Amino acid sequence: SSPHRHTPALIHLSAIQNNVKKMRQHIGQKSDVYAVVKANAYGHGAVAVARSVHELVDGFCVSNLDEALELRNHLITKPILVLSGIVPENADIARSLNITLTAPSLAWLKIIVSQPTEIKGLKIHIAVDSGMGRIGVCDVEEANEMIALADQHGIIFDGIFTHFATADEKEESKFSAQKEKFDAIVAHLSRRPEFVHSTNSAAGLWHQKEVQDIERLGVAMYGLNPSGNALTLPFELEPALELKSELTHVKTIHEGDTVGYGATFTAQEDTIVGTVSIGYADGWTRDMQGFHVLVDGHFCEIIGRVSMDQMCIKLEKDYEIGTPVTLIGRDGAQEITCQEIAQWRHTINYEVLCLLSDRIYRVYQ
Ligand code: PLP
Repeated sequence: SSPHRHTPALIHLSAIQNNVKKMRQHIGQKSDVYAVVKANAYGHGAVAVARSVHELVDGFCVSNLDEALELRNHLITKPILVLSGIVPENADIARSLNITLTAPSLAWLKIIVSQPTEIKGLKIHIAVDSGMGRIGVCDVEEANEMIALADQHGIIFDGIFTHFATADEKEESKFSAQKEKFDAIVAHLSRRPEFVHSTNSAAGLWHQKEVQDIERLGVAMYGLNPSGNALTLPFELEPALELKSELTHVKTIHEGDTVGYGATFTAQEDTIVGTVSIGYADGWTRDMQGFHVLVDGHFCEIIGRVSMDQMCIKLEKDYEIGTPVTLIGRDGAQEITCQEIAQWRHTINYEVLCLLSDRIYRVYQ
């Protein structure tokens, strides 16, 4: 991280807390809420986010064992579920720290039980592939064999879950087919575990009646619409992250002068150019050329190629060094949203957040 460079991500923890509370209200009190804090809490900082919502949620989801260890090392005591299949040799680490593992297949569980290390007491949630096509069992026979094998070795069959591929889309037939397949498998299990769960943010927002024992709350917690603009939010979410910087250099260039690698911008007239300390090494990718930032409440075009650490913008007037620049967030009456950046890049808002690199200093407010 580079705290001496004035390019921070401002993280509004109260926004995250409010989004959790609103979601809880929306889905009703009967379900647990697990905060999905994988990928450094979608770029917001896993430990800080986990601490800020610790009393508001029932547990946490991460994507791998190291992310779970980071939480435990910072005294996060609530249940933690690792959503991807881990390297089987590391199961003992999970067991010793009460970290719940996803069991992606019978083959994986067979490796686990053949380990020389202690696995008695390890908690697992069996993944069901109802149509996502990533991990999980496809039929109840495999699930029931896993339950039997787990029982034989003292592994706790704590949960079963699936993941929807299209909960963020208007067209619902795929969602319904997945739901039906998952329900049928759960109905024929040799026994029901404590936690049956399936819903992510999108399913919680637009199919709230389908939330079962756990809502796995990811992107909506950070204040973003999981569908981009495809579906209208049932309630307002508060975006939690703003990305700011400031001008490090200001100059006037003249007709024919060029800016950046490849000399892709040529001034047609006298042009005031500002330099900003952010680049593709920060996750501010090269395709941001042509997009804009906010200075003094005005949109300013990004000109020339975005370099590794710096980029240039076209200014309306000769601002001083240190003048604030807003890359994501509000300045005066104007705003740049993560979703607008995602659309510019032909990607999803999740990716814009997750790409923000460690070099950007996170400031919590
Ligand atoms: N559940 C699983 C299995 C996931 O992989 C993810 C994220 O990719 C989530 C829940 C959270 O999804 P979202 O951020 O859309 O709420």
